[in-house]
Amino acid sequence: MSQATTQGEGRLAQLGQNKLFQSLAEPYQAFIKDVAQQYPLTHQDLHQLTEMSVDLAMWGQITPPDLWAQEEKKVFGANAKQQKKNLLKGFRAQWTALKAKGPLYQREGKLGIKPPKRNLTVLESDHTVLGWCPVASPKTVCCNLRTLDAVQGCGMGCSYCSIQTFYDDRKVGVDGQLAEKLAKLNLDPSRRYHIGSGQSSDSLLLGDRQGILSAQLEFARNNPNIVYEFKTKSKNVSALLRADVPKNLFVSWSMNTPAVIHAEEHGTASLDDRLATARKVADHGIKVGFHFHPMVRYDGYLEDYPKLIQRLMTEFKPEEIAFISMGTLTWIKPAIKSLRMRGIESGLLQMEMDDAAGKMSYPMEIKKEMFGMAWEHFAAWHEQVFFYFCMEDRELWHAVMGRCYPDNETFETDMLNALFGKLGLEWDTPV
Ligand code: SF4
Repeated sequence: MSQATTQGEGRLAQLGQNKLFQSLAEPYQAFIKDVAQQYPLTHQDLHQLTEMSVDLAMWGQITPPDLWAQEEKKVFGANAKQQKKNLLKGFRAQWTALKAKGPLYQREGKLGIKPPKRNLTVLESDHTVLGWCPVASPKTVCCNLRTLDAVQGCGMGCSYCSIQTFYDDRKVGVDGQLAEKLAKLNLDPSRRYHIGSGQSSDSLLLGDRQGILSAQLEFARNNPNIVYEFKTKSKNVSALLRADVPKNLFVSWSMNTPAVIHAEEHGTASLDDRLATARKVADHGIKVGFHFHPMVRYDGYLEDYPKLIQRLMTEFKPEEIAFISMGTLTWIKPAIKSLRMRGIESGLLQMEMDDAAGKMSYPMEIKKEMFGMAWEHFAAWHEQVFFYFCMEDRELWHAVMGRCYPDNETFETDMLNALFGKLGLEWDTPV
């Protein structure tokens, strides 16, 4: 056996142990093995070919073997090594072009992607429930949101969600001592806080299991210096609507177009259900908020988001709205890895990416188009509703809204002023 053959077999055996390779469907694994038998691929070539094949399989626009076959028809080289180099170059160029194009979402039919199964567990630990927004960064313009981890982990399965990378992906943990922990929290009575429970889980999906909803309502009631936010993608508001909801609490829904909900937000309520539920909550006299986050650039997005905004502005009055935020896809490496490993159909990684304060997001020019489009369509509400961008760069604020806060503290104060005003809360600045 020649040394080259032994080395090739060694590389293939090693590839077989690679978890990303294992996540590929069997025919695509066979394709990569075939290519590796035919051409002298290095470890790095195999790794890159695997990664690109995983992406192509997720995007569903062309299969990896079909793309390779297309390239083989046009690529020649003086020898196998040269030919391999040219083939990989062509394959990568096509992959890059598809990435830049963005997803072509199917809008019909069922995708058959089920949220991963998670068991409900009661957590008995001394885990601190109050923290800071886990995705905030001093490098971006941030609202200093405090987060309350009443539940850790989420039973929904949005493809972009980074909560899945923070917690055990087999369970959803409810804090067993939530009420006691909340009663012991020492908040500074001389200042105001915006606290939300939707960063570690969906705030309403579990209703009042283990008394979590009642404990949070009680906490809001006992602390008039906070504005408490439940953030959700569910329609499960029956327990909330039966309860005595304090004035300093509002409910926000993540909003997206039907195409994105269908393709990427598995296990969540449909757009119609979200809007109908928010309507029900607003009719109860509870203020509602909307997070257009993550806005996704796909074929048709410039038509779909304006339609959604128009619908929202027809179905709600600005005085019912606590605030509206906008944000987009921002990736950390483990979230990209975790999405690739899931082996599901998803167009989310089909995007050009640039560095965004140490994470990865759309290039600035695309963001300007995306946020500018949403901002313009909300023009009639600019003076009546508090709008903000979540986790974005000053350049984007200036380009789209024509203004930005000098620092996060000023942003936080402005948001709190707006929320206290909208919710009709009293606050005397302590002397
Ligand atoms: S702007 Fe967004 S990321 Fe930043 S603190 Fe507020 S919610 Fe968190």
